[in-house]
Amino acid sequence: MNKAILLYSGGIDSTYLLHELLAKTVGSGSRQRKNPVDEVACLSFNYGQPHVDKELGAAKRITDRLGVEHLFEKLDFPFLRQDMAGGDPVVPNRNMIFISVAGAIAKFRGSNMIFIGCTQSDYGVFPDCRPSFLRSADETLMGAVGVRLISPLVGMKKSDIVTDGRKKHGIDWAETWSCYSGDDEPCGECLACQERNACMD
Ligand SMILES: [Zn+2]
Repeated sequence: MNKAILLYSGGIDSTYLLHELLAKTVGSGSRQRKNPVDEVACLSFNYGQPHVDKELGAAKRITDRLGVEHLFEKLDFPFLRQDMAGGDPVVPNRNMIFISVAGAIAKFRGSNMIFIGCTQSDYGVFPDCRPSFLRSADETLMGAVGVRLISPLVGMKKSDIVTDGRKKHGIDWAETWSCYSGDDEPCGECLACQERNACMD
């Protein structure tokens, strides 16, 4: 029995991955294959991000609709709080911290897999989304708690995810949230907005 925890932000990539896990598929076209997940729970972090209410609100609405268990954890560290819209979108070592906390939660709950929705579109800006990082984090997590870190979207671009998500899973992307600003409406200018808008029709 494979029990998975998905690091879930309510954005495009992790929402696509959630649908893939629920549909028991991963990948598309000739690269599509079955995934071995029997049960999935989502895990979202409140780390003081300016857009926390929007992001986690979107995440919760989606998991409620899909009937998926959703865990929320608060990380109360001043160094994780930063202006990701007006300043640097990279919160240093954020994914390592998320993965590490998720590893402890997985062990506690008896989960044996953690999924993360890093994509090819993230490599340029986010060092902790690159395949070399993810491979070594998987090895570290296996060594520490016997839990696998799996990143099935590393070969995919965000634009493919948007197209596939609509076609394969009928995802309404308006349900998801990307903007880093903390405003009520997407600012249209931050990195998350720019990447999102570049993929939408
Ligand atoms: Zn924005």
